Amino acid sequence: MTETAEKLLDIRGLCISIPGREGARVAVSNVDFEIGRGEVLGLVGESGSGKSLSMMAVMGLLPHGMQVSGSIRFNGEELVGASQRRLRALRGRHIAMVFQDPMTALNPVLTIGAQLTEALMLHNRTWSRRQLRARAIELLELVAIPLPERRFDQYPHEFSGGMRQRVVIAIAVANDPELLIADEPTTALDVTIQAQIIEIFDRLRREKGLAIMLITHDLGLVAGLADKVTILYSGRVAERGEIEAVFHRPRHPYTAGLLAAVPSIDTTSARLHAIEGVPPSLLDRPSGCQFHPRCAYALPICIEQDPDFQWFGNSMAACHRAAEILPNVD
Ligand code: SF4
Repeated sequence: MTETAEKLLDIRGLCISIPGREGARVAVSNVDFEIGRGEVLGLVGESGSGKSLSMMAVMGLLPHGMQVSGSIRFNGEELVGASQRRLRALRGRHIAMVFQDPMTALNPVLTIGAQLTEALMLHNRTWSRRQLRARAIELLELVAIPLPERRFDQYPHEFSGGMRQRVVIAIAVANDPELLIADEPTTALDVTIQAQIIEIFDRLRREKGLAIMLITHDLGLVAGLADKVTILYSGRVAERGEIEAVFHRPRHPYTAGLLAAVPSIDTTSARLHAIEGVPPSLLDRPSGCQFHPRCAYALPICIEQDPDFQWFGNSMAACHRAAEILPNVD
């Protein structure tokens, strides 16, 4: 957390297990991270890394039967073990979410205005129709929808993909949440629209003090917006810290591999570096460091022992060789 940011979300030792015929499988193990007010955290990982499960645990939306332990504190309040009623009250009002597909997030048979006012009415039952409409138009302006008064009465199919995603963001922030969880918010959008979404998130953070948990595999998006990053691999934190520290001097070979795979306009080499291999299955976890079957730096100790974290000023990495490896990310 940056020095000035007050802690809003504080996750400690989060573990999530999925039940199965042969016993529970640990999908998320001992994950820690925190987000301060007005901060943006990038939660990065390949599919199966545990980022979506961690996010669903924060929202209280994990499928029935999954076991959660550890601590998820929001504004100091413990959410692990909280009642569904309490979690429902927090969702929408204090913690909001933007899902990745703007095409399915909106109801095609309701106008944009109706969907915005419906979200507002959930927490502002005494507002008049005029108040609801005025606030909805204000929200459309906030997310840079042109001619918001006219757009209010239109249907989702009359909006482009980028505009629909902006409406989804407007609905999410309708009740001034403190934390916005954005799950791959720019995946289906072209780069111009992605830049607009980044700009909107940045404005919401600056003007409203909104904290954002950005769940993505897109390191470019994280670099453009986040203050901090947590890299998950196979349900564990591989590396985390301030964005400058992690991106300019990664200490974990997996982070370095992800960064080397990001296209860059000033990269003279035409070749991008993919990380060889695939993440381990939940049913067949390797011993020791989970990354060792894919790691070019692996030593015998990596197969035997799960590495502890090592701190490096503003970042930390779980790698036996974090202090000695300086992977080339250029
Ligand atoms: Fe690679 Fe070993 Fe570090 Fe794991 S602990 S990332 S295998 S060097």
